[in-house]
Order: sequence, then C-alpha cells, then structure tokens
Amino acid sequence: MEQTLSIIKPDAVAKNVVGKILDRFESAGLRIAATKKIQLSKADAQAFYAVHNQRPFFNDLVEFMISGPVVVSVLEGENAMAKNRELMGATNPQEAEPGTIRADFADSIDANAVHGSDSLENAKIEIDFFFAQRELC
Ligand code: ATP
Ligand code: MG
Repeated sequence: MEQTLSIIKPDAVAKNVVGKILDRFESAGLRIAATKKIQLSKADAQAFYAVHNQRPFFNDLVEFMISGPVVVSVLEGENAMAKNRELMGATNPQEAEPGTIRADFADSIDANAVHGSDSLENAKIEIDFFFAQRELC
C-alpha cells in the first residue's frame, strides 16, 4: 500500500480547518496512518525544504512554515501520492481546480494550505523526516 506525506500549513491551521482538510483525504479513500500537530523550528523548515534553498522565495517559505503550528500526516492507500496531489490542486490557488483543497482554503502561492510529497522517493524521505516507525499504524 502506497504512503505519502501531507502537511497542513500554518495558514490552514490558523483558519481552524484541520478537520475539514483531513476529511477530504478520508472521503477520497485515503487512510490516516499517522498524524500530529507540531511547531517546526527554523532548522526543521530549512532542512525539509532544502531542495528549494537556491530559489528566490526560500527565506519567505521558511518564515511562513514556522509562523505557527502545522499538522503532518502520513496518508495511505492506492496511488496515495498522486491522489493527494490531485486533492490539493495547483501550487497557486488561483490556478487550482474548483473543489480542491487549495481552491477552497488557500489565499496565495505562499500561504497555500497544504504540502504533499511529489514522488514516492520523496514521500519516503519526508515520512522518515517526521515519523518514527512505531508512529505509523
Ligand atoms: P509543496 O511542496 O508545498 O507541496 P508544491 O509541490 O505544489 O508545494 P513546490 O514547487 O514544491 O510546490 O514549492 C514549494 C512551496 O514553495 C509551495 O507550496 C509554495 O508555498 C512555495 N512556492 C513555490 N513557488 C513559489 C513562487 N513562485 N513564489 C512564492 N512561493 C512559491
Ligand atoms: Mg513540492
């Protein structure tokens, strides 16, 4: 069974829509194998988004990701990685399909409500970044 990592970002946590977003995953047939609410440190956010460290928006992205708590989850199911990306919608909420999480809950390309792993290889790395094996059940 495929697993992928989801992060409900600080903007969506602040809007109090954690339950509504988790419901999107469950309603689409994904199972929540693990979930927790955490406050990322600057070092956590820099390490997690290290692939983007040469991009012009890197510092803003890190500051945004530590601006409040996030909810990290492992989603499990058939085609979990692609299914989650589909539920999320495009990175820029103005380009996201109606009915997607970003279309419904995100305000801007910076504050875009959710993160989802973009490959199975990255999913494994990202799950290991946040969760110990005993937390996955
Ligand atoms: P995520 O990795 O958060 O799931 P994504 O895979 O859709 O989003 P990426 O290209 O990996 O998008 O970018 C990571 C994050 O960096 C985006 O979610 C967004 O918050 C921010 N970002 C991406 N492109 C831009 C941009 N052009 N300007 C500002 N922020 C951006
Ligand atoms: Mg990405």
